[in-house]
Amino acid sequence: MKTSGWGRYPVIDSEVVRYNSDDSLFENIDGRNPVIPYGFGRSYGDSALSDTILKMRPAKRMLHFDPENGLLTCEAGVLLSEILETFLPRGWFLKVTPGTKYITIGGAIASDVHGKNHHQYGAFSEYVSEFSLMMPNGSIKACSRTKNKDLFYATCGGMGLTGIILKATISLQSVQSNTIVQQTIKTACLKEIFQAFEEYYNEPYSVAWIDCTATGSSLGRGLLNVGHFKEDHKFEYKAPGKLNMPLKLPGFLLNKWSIKLFNQLYYQKNLKSENRSETTVDSFFYPLDILKNWNRLYGEEGPLQYQFVLPKKTSFDGIKEVLNYLQKKNMYSSLGVLKLFGKENKNLLSFPMEGYTLALDFKVDDKIFQILDDLDKIISGLGGRIYLAKDARMSVEIFNTGYSKAKEFRSIRDQYGMNKIFNSLQSNRLNL
Ligand SMILES: Cc1cc2nc3c(=O)[nH]c(=O)nc-3n(C[C@H](O)[C@H](O)[C@H](O)COP(=O)(O)OP(=O)(O)OC[C@H]3O[C@@H](n4cnc5c(N)ncnc54)[C@H](O)[C@@H]3O)c2cc1C
Repeated sequence: MKTSGWGRYPVIDSEVVRYNSDDSLFENIDGRNPVIPYGFGRSYGDSALSDTILKMRPAKRMLHFDPENGLLTCEAGVLLSEILETFLPRGWFLKVTPGTKYITIGGAIASDVHGKNHHQYGAFSEYVSEFSLMMPNGSIKACSRTKNKDLFYATCGGMGLTGIILKATISLQSVQSNTIVQQTIKTACLKEIFQAFEEYYNEPYSVAWIDCTATGSSLGRGLLNVGHFKEDHKFEYKAPGKLNMPLKLPGFLLNKWSIKLFNQLYYQKNLKSENRSETTVDSFFYPLDILKNWNRLYGEEGPLQYQFVLPKKTSFDGIKEVLNYLQKKNMYSSLGVLKLFGKENKNLLSFPMEGYTLALDFKVDDKIFQILDDLDKIISGLGGRIYLAKDARMSVEIFNTGYSKAKEFRSIRDQYGMNKIFNSLQSNRLNL
């Protein structure tokens, strides 16, 4: 079966095995090499691609919820959207959520995803108290910060390369509303947007959109969106309907001029320097989810997302350098999303480090790979790293420089024989 990540690059032929039960799982994958767990396919690149992919989505039972402390135990194929639909009406929300709710719990742990609140809350795994992991020999181990902790720190952020997460216990946060009070701050350049992030540090959620086409003194101008939950005790939650993007658009529609026009209009939409409004959880956290199959906007090849993080002290100059470099090459990202990260955690391969992260979207074409290789060198030289959940092309050298605990990760894979069975296109490329 033809398979790809969300970016539709690369596309490969894979054999598909579906999760059936914990008991029959090992029998179904035994003797297959390579195999990799597959959640909902929302990682952009090749981390969930292999000769055999194990679709975990059928494992979608919620098993236990304790309203005293907000602890939820569920199977790994449960979607964040299902948790929202079940628990938001009761006043509970995820502690950390990425920009799409259509991901599985297994995928969230394996990528150790981050949200708009990393500067205050950290990454997803911070709120995972325990999970069970199927090992390469079929045994199932409970993993936490005290039980099999080497497996815990390797699996959170470990991109499915340490085994199969079967179920997990995560904590939810109690919220007082399903409405978000949001503020949009219009900034005239990159310096202003950095200042705004610091000024609004106490807001739990923050994210900025950057106009990657602005030049000169306007370089890096954008809109910072900050927000928090309202406290009106109203919880009627109804997931919004979805529009569908029925066809792949011809790739040529997304060009330098259309990207410039879109960015200018988007920047101008906020006339005032500050705007306050109230909005729903869905439009604040998951604006892209409203358009099903939005990746078809990028044409046949799909979007290639490039997300990097830089340490705080090199973030400002580094992001400026990246934007300038892209403009020099006449390459325009259709989207630029900037976030502030707090301290990094103890996981071996988690992406966040204290500093700023920028995500850029490109259409795949002949030029983009060389340009991203050049950007890798800039990021790497400034002490940064590239996000594995978005990657389909980085080199092993760039990876090793950015992820200082990669050696330890490889040795755990070796010690437990994980590298004899759990392999992806990405792990082969990165020599994991
Ligand atoms: C619109 C959009 C917005 C996004 N926004 C963000 C964001 O704000 N922050 C962020 O961090 N990410 C973001 N992402 C990326 C996304 O959150 C991650 O790629 C996530 O891991 C996808 O989960 P999935 O269930 O679709 O997993 P897949 O894409 O299917 O797999 C991702 C990885 O998880 C592994 N995996 C899946 N299930 C299991 C399991 N049961 N056991 C072991 N390993 C498993 C796979 O092997 C693979 O390595 C975004 C993606 C999209 C499309």
